[in-house]
Amino acid sequence: MSETDVKKVNDQHMEMDNFFTGGFTIRNPDSQTSPPGPCDTETSDPAVELEKIADELRKCCKCGLGETRTNAVPGEGNPNARIVFVGEAPGADEDAQGRPFVGRAGKLLDNIIAACDLQRTDVFICNILKCRPPGNRDPRPEEIISCLPYLQKQLELINPEVIIALGAHAARTLLKTKQPIGQLRGRFHEYYTSETATPIKLMPTYHPAYLLRNYSHDNRKKVWEDMKKVLAEL
Ligand code: SF4
Repeated sequence: MSETDVKKVNDQHMEMDNFFTGGFTIRNPDSQTSPPGPCDTETSDPAVELEKIADELRKCCKCGLGETRTNAVPGEGNPNARIVFVGEAPGADEDAQGRPFVGRAGKLLDNIIAACDLQRTDVFICNILKCRPPGNRDPRPEEIISCLPYLQKQLELINPEVIIALGAHAARTLLKTKQPIGQLRGRFHEYYTSETATPIKLMPTYHPAYLLRNYSHDNRKKVWEDMKKVLAEL
């Protein structure tokens, strides 16, 4: 390997390390940290409608998780976000606080969002399930079926430009597929809020909790590449 190649590889490793520790910004020429796009819903304010959904699901007992949760976790962020992150389900920290992605995985997600030159308040962050499965077990099909209408309504109201599905459960549920996340990630798919709606681009990538458990150079590089594709698209 030539000296130039070694330097290039070193630079790329440094960039990627900074990406995951929050010290690096992927700059998108047209990036902006806030100004939301106009709301497509003429007759209703998405912020108000999102709050109504949050109020409803905080009282929800449509599946068994309503009995075991401490707090439901509706999701939070900008009602006019250009990017919506969708994870799997709340964990212990999220259940205790009623907020999404606030534990160790949340810290990593914060770094990823910051690296994209954005803040949490610029994006919307939520999960497929709004209540924590005991012991952080996988969501059950009947729980997903009961809970999914809340997320579908949230996505319809926000109508983002890109959805980032974090992990296999989020990606498979939204894309109605059984393919492994390794095959789904790295390219855009389409998500439809209704049969007549314009599709929203959906990028599957690894869940931050998976990354923390498997913090390899290869896995980090894949997430980094996925996020660069999202920003290039925006
Ligand atoms: S997980 Fe969803 S469907 Fe189940 S109780 Fe919570 S809000 Fe209701």
